[in-house]
Amino acid sequence: MGRLDDKICIITGAARGQGEAEARLFASEGASVWLTDVLDAEGEAVAADMGGTYRHLDVRDEAAWASVVDDVMSTHGQIDVLVNNAGIFSRGRHFEISVDDFNRVMDINSTGVFLGMRAVSPHMRDAARGSIVNISSVAGMQGGINAFAYFTSKWAVRGMTKAAALENGRRGVRVNSIHPGLIDTDMLQTEVLEGQDTDRTVNQFVPMGRTASALEVANLALFLASDDSSYCTASEFVVDGGMTAL
Ligand code: NAD
Repeated sequence: MGRLDDKICIITGAARGQGEAEARLFASEGASVWLTDVLDAEGEAVAADMGGTYRHLDVRDEAAWASVVDDVMSTHGQIDVLVNNAGIFSRGRHFEISVDDFNRVMDINSTGVFLGMRAVSPHMRDAARGSIVNISSVAGMQGGINAFAYFTSKWAVRGMTKAAALENGRRGVRVNSIHPGLIDTDMLQTEVLEGQDTDRTVNQFVPMGRTASALEVANLALFLASDDSSYCTASEFVVDGGMTAL
């Protein structure tokens, strides 16, 4: 028996990285998984390989959200889990970045999460069950330098999670946030650690002395998606090798 048997799950940003790991793990635990992303070739390939369904969904696009949710509801009649995972990283200090740069990060990382919650919550509330998992970051737990929009957007995810959880509490819909540290994906290698000595950064900032695999975050997402976390809502779940304790 799988931990997500009979559950219908939507995952954003599922073409690669953490979203892909979550999609594969959820499917292996019995879920029907709808993978969404803007990287269509990669998303189609992952979905075909694991037996999921892929749809193009730019998380900023309200109409696209409605279309995906309509498709899922007409196919299955229910949505049990949404993982709002899609995100981008961006460098720049508050006195350097343009308003356009700031808004682009906020639109994807924060408004995208709001649109996703808004699209699925009515269906989950009607069914009196559901779990929404929002991927924030350790950047949503503390301050930091030279990624102003990213930090702001991830704190917004943490705040939206709490507000939506309280609004959904008595309707059986749980909402929690995950706060990963340094996770070994394209984002970490090509953007977060760009130009840095990786070993030095990891040794300095991670008490466990290593980065995590995407699967180590997916395991936490699985817990929050499943009924194993039935009394968890409005909470932050950190998976960071001890980073935020420093
Ligand atoms: P990634 O870059 O490998 O994956 C991000 C995915 O989001 C990609 O598939 C990308 O195409 C998709 N995406 C980007 N913009 C989109 C949009 N507008 N609409 C739909 N999809 C879009 O990075 P990842 O590490 O797998 O990141 C997953 C999440 O984890 C992100 O929210 C990220 O901010 C967060 N996070 C990552 C780390 C890390 O160290 N990698 C740490 C903390 C938090």
